[in-house]
Amino acid sequence: MKSRWSEPEARRAVAHYAERGIGEDLALRTYSARLLGGDRRLVLHGGGNTSVKTCMRDVYGDEVRVLCVKGSGWDLATIEPEGHPAVRLEPLLRLRRLDKLTDEEMVSVQRANLLDSAAPNPSVETLLHAFLPQKFVDHTHSVAAVAIADQPEVEEICRRIYGERLACVPYVLPGFGLAKAAASAFEANPEVEGLMLIKHGIFTFGATAREAYERMIELVTLAESYIAVTARPRPKPREQSRHPATDEAELLAALRGMLGSAAQGKWPRHWIMDCRKGPDIEAFLGDDKLAACALRGPATPDHIIRLKGKPLLLLPARCGELKAWAEKAALAIGDYAAEYENYFQRQNARAGGRKKALDPMPRIILVPGVGIVGIGKDKADAKIVADLFEAAMASMIGAEAIGRYEPIGEDDQFDMEYWSLEQAKLGKSAPKRLGGHVVVVTGGAGAIGAATATAFAREGAEIALLDIDSQAVARIAKSLGGSALAVSCDVTDQGSVASAFTKVVECFGGVDILVSNAGTALTGMIAEISDEILRRSFEINFFAHQNVAREAVAIMKRQKLGGVLLFNVSKQAVNPGPNFGAYGTSKAALLALVRQYALEHGADGIRANALNPDRIRSGLLTPQMIQQRAATRGVSPSEYMAGNLLREEVTAQDVADAFVAQALMQKTTGDVMTVDGGNVAAMMR
Ligand code: ZN
Repeated sequence: MKSRWSEPEARRAVAHYAERGIGEDLALRTYSARLLGGDRRLVLHGGGNTSVKTCMRDVYGDEVRVLCVKGSGWDLATIEPEGHPAVRLEPLLRLRRLDKLTDEEMVSVQRANLLDSAAPNPSVETLLHAFLPQKFVDHTHSVAAVAIADQPEVEEICRRIYGERLACVPYVLPGFGLAKAAASAFEANPEVEGLMLIKHGIFTFGATAREAYERMIELVTLAESYIAVTARPRPKPREQSRHPATDEAELLAALRGMLGSAAQGKWPRHWIMDCRKGPDIEAFLGDDKLAACALRGPATPDHIIRLKGKPLLLLPARCGELKAWAEKAALAIGDYAAEYENYFQRQNARAGGRKKALDPMPRIILVPGVGIVGIGKDKADAKIVADLFEAAMASMIGAEAIGRYEPIGEDDQFDMEYWSLEQAKLGKSAPKRLGGHVVVVTGGAGAIGAATATAFAREGAEIALLDIDSQAVARIAKSLGGSALAVSCDVTDQGSVASAFTKVVECFGGVDILVSNAGTALTGMIAEISDEILRRSFEINFFAHQNVAREAVAIMKRQKLGGVLLFNVSKQAVNPGPNFGAYGTSKAALLALVRQYALEHGADGIRANALNPDRIRSGLLTPQMIQQRAATRGVSPSEYMAGNLLREEVTAQDVADAFVAQALMQKTTGDVMTVDGGNVAAMMR
């Protein structure tokens, strides 16, 4: 590992932040915190923390000594000076003399001594930073350092690697106790450059930002070299069965359904997945000893709130044996949940019986032959889970190569998992109505498709946009931000539809809601129209809907989580207009299709509903068309667009809101909803 410190860049950071009135100490703190945060082998997703001791003026103009320490919610990779809120140092130091301090008291003292009361909560490791006398303190859960920290012989190994340069600190739950233990370890040998926190991670410190940072790089590099030199050769992994991509999607959807049934109605049923594979993962899963290692516990205690104490290890999945595998997997998920509930009962009794159980679902599922599957409440969450496990995997491989991977035991796992200050890191935002649901929108690059995607994203759903215009759909997905997936797809081509749905399932784990929206409006008098035009209209307005609905239903049945099929039908299905025969007849057939799905799949919990919008500005109703039609009727374009009972133009947003409403109406199927501002001729009867 190389130092990425650049003196010119450090100077630029100082000059840049000086313009905002930020002092040099905090500017350099920000610069080197970002260097640490930018390396995935050191820091991932809000892990690690950094600090600097400096002087600032308070509101009275008095100069006070402060500890600027990482605030909760900030990520080192993107941290700004505000991410290191200033806490008065003296009151923190006085705490050292106390024998006992509850977590609540600790948080309260830290908050009460912030110079800015609106700043985020200082890190749970604030006191550890405060009690070390050095100006700059850096802490990471580096992959290599953790491989050393999780050894039964950690102290002996550290002596071998570092001599007197580093002191070991016994495992203690982060907070007041750990801060005192770390300070004592340091004071026993004040010449040390860093601390190895057993079964946790590594601290380095120095008089300057550069010294603390470069010590981190050097001490971690020494750990890496030790692992490389000492590593025993790994046994050849057992033969892996290669899994064709189509099977993988089937397997994920089945797995997602199993999580839903294991929830027993008590816990969330809908989860999002992030599946990772590759040679390293395959080698890990192909080695029984390594895979079993993961069951011993988390590489660093910080992981436990996202990964739980251990993953669920399933049997290898082989091509063509999915059914038998799925039966065993379903039992294994049920067992995992039951075992977690037992763990909670047992540990909660030990810890005083005051904790509230968290859901018992696994967050990492290991499937030899396929990969590792991260499970989250949304895609971002599932990705974080998979990233953390990949880092943990690297630590486990290192640890087993040089000795034995031995993380914290069950009692410590429980104390960390149910520590209120850890749970607070996950935030307490109320779950959104469609959180954990995957929505596929066809015609995703059009006005209605884009508005619909936005409306579902606002409800917390994961979005997959399908469109034949691959560039436009990619733009819309990007504009949604987050994890929206753009898939180029010709909905009239069954092969293209099948591969698009495979991509969606591989990305999110399944499909819950289909908004079948792509359409075309071809014109011509019905007696004069060519067969080619008429058939083309049926291809897009009827068969394409059938193509996507069939794929969606196949996935929904595999998941056994129910589902919703929503179709953009249009008022033409019930209220034909002249010259629109090709459109109206195909849409009338589509309305019959919707009812057929409602009829045949109600028993699967799959609802099918139709929306009848009219006069929406879109690719099917362009400004020129509006001009022409308004002129024919002798009215202005805006009068034409508001030509309904409510006298208001109907927009793509109105259509999008109606789709969301239909998705949420749990007891409604076979429904036709109008979104046309009121039109007696188009009313359902
Ligand atoms: Zn830590």
